Amino acid sequence: MSELNGESRNLIDGELGDASSGKTFDNINPATEEVIGQVADGTQQDMDRAIAAARRAFDETDWSTNHTFRKKCLEQLNDALKEAQEDLRQIVIAEAGSPIMITYQVQVDNYIDAMPYWSDLTTSFEYESRMSDVDFMGQPQGRIIRREPVGVVGAITPWNFPLYLNLAKVGPALASGNSVVLKPAPDTPFSATNLGRLIAEKTDIPAGIVNVVASSDHGVGAMLSRDPRIDLVTFTGSTATGRNVMEGASSTVKKIFLELGGKSATIVLDDIDMDTVAPMAGISVCTHAGQGCAIPTRVLIPEKNYAEGVEKIAAAMAGVNYGDPLDPSNLMGPVVSKKQQERVLSYIEKGREEGARVVLGGGRPAHLEKGFFVEPTLLADVDPDATVAQEEIFGPVLCAIPYKDDEDAIRIANNSIYGLSGAVWSGDTDRALSVARQIRTGTLSVNGAQWFHIDTPFGGYRQSGVGRENGVAGFEEYLETKVIAVPSS
Ligand code: NAD
Repeated sequence: MSELNGESRNLIDGELGDASSGKTFDNINPATEEVIGQVADGTQQDMDRAIAAARRAFDETDWSTNHTFRKKCLEQLNDALKEAQEDLRQIVIAEAGSPIMITYQVQVDNYIDAMPYWSDLTTSFEYESRMSDVDFMGQPQGRIIRREPVGVVGAITPWNFPLYLNLAKVGPALASGNSVVLKPAPDTPFSATNLGRLIAEKTDIPAGIVNVVASSDHGVGAMLSRDPRIDLVTFTGSTATGRNVMEGASSTVKKIFLELGGKSATIVLDDIDMDTVAPMAGISVCTHAGQGCAIPTRVLIPEKNYAEGVEKIAAAMAGVNYGDPLDPSNLMGPVVSKKQQERVLSYIEKGREEGARVVLGGGRPAHLEKGFFVEPTLLADVDPDATVAQEEIFGPVLCAIPYKDDEDAIRIANNSIYGLSGAVWSGDTDRALSVARQIRTGTLSVNGAQWFHIDTPFGGYRQSGVGRENGVAGFEEYLETKVIAVPSS
């Protein structure tokens, strides 16, 4: 692997610098368990300074109103990202344990390639328009409707798709005219600190408009939800932390935008060949070791095809290559940390205790000496109410559940606190569509069609979140709405 060009410094008020305490924390490669670098361990004082800088930059510069300047700055950022793309790829592989295969897709390339979507929206979006006149006591009234940036955005991101999720927040927040304080997950700090370095060194984005504060202390991130100088907090992470963010934000009635967990279901209808579905169902749960919030982790199989379905999915999962993330044939690397590995293994144990049958995997792979790996695991005969069918495991673990008829499948799929995504397979697309319309989730795939793209609004029903990321809907999350009434002539 080429040498990592990981940035150790945080970006606060235009300056790359060490933590106020002088302390650092280790960045660990989950595939090798080796330390790949140190990062400034941002303190509460550092976060306070970053918030003050973002507030001042928003209030005292023309960043929020100068759309053409913003567009130029975002184009500079796009160019810088392109130039640094290979370094960023190596960073994501090393710190997130992401297989190189998926860095050519959503993890790195797709989103960098799509960044012009945000720079173009900077000037193409209609920030001001006029509504039709209304009558008030015999006088026609005009109404101007304006969309203005919310102000200072606190952005908190997880470790599974670190570069993509940092860009998915910083891109639209800046394009719509806000300033930002970005707090990355402690497991994947370089994907944020290197973005900070590009912004500081390769763009004219004014000091304080983007601040990056990495920290090993979750409490530093929690300041973003509570601080009255922050106008909106955008958070991607677990539902449990999302609840904390929501609670913290309530003290100042802050706007929130939450992308949380999922427990999505693949529904296999009874008119489709299991040979078509099994590879997709088996492979998707192994992608990036199942560490994707929208990955279907339950598969609902009609009773009459159940035995065959379980067997074929197990065969598909058994054929998945996994191990070294740098090997281009591997679909699956490690999970992100020892803590996460223990968590996934303890869920598998819980599944066993609650009566699930372990058809494949179930442990740590014996042939890989180092790294936080978990075997591709298929749990069959899972009760739809069992812990493993209800809670997000965030590992390569698929739960197979039999069902009686379409209504039963819909009921089981919707039996969840989550509502993020899902898939429906049928020999008849209209039948699959009819089922898809009855599933209470933010995105769905029919017969393998892909919904993910920068212009697709993505988010969840129920406890999978509040608001939508990407697309014009995602851009508008970062805007306020103002109406100015004027006399009409
Ligand atoms: P996490 O909730 O543990 O942490 C996410 C971020 O929140 C980290 O930066 C962490 O430092 C910070 N944090 C922790 N406690 C905090 C607090 N009290 N206040 C503010 N910030 C705090 O999540 P994770 O384990 O890093 O990521 C995995 C989770 O993310 C999974 O649940 C997954 O489903 C979810 N996720 C959701 C989406 C989506 O778009 N819906 C996308 C990716 C990941």
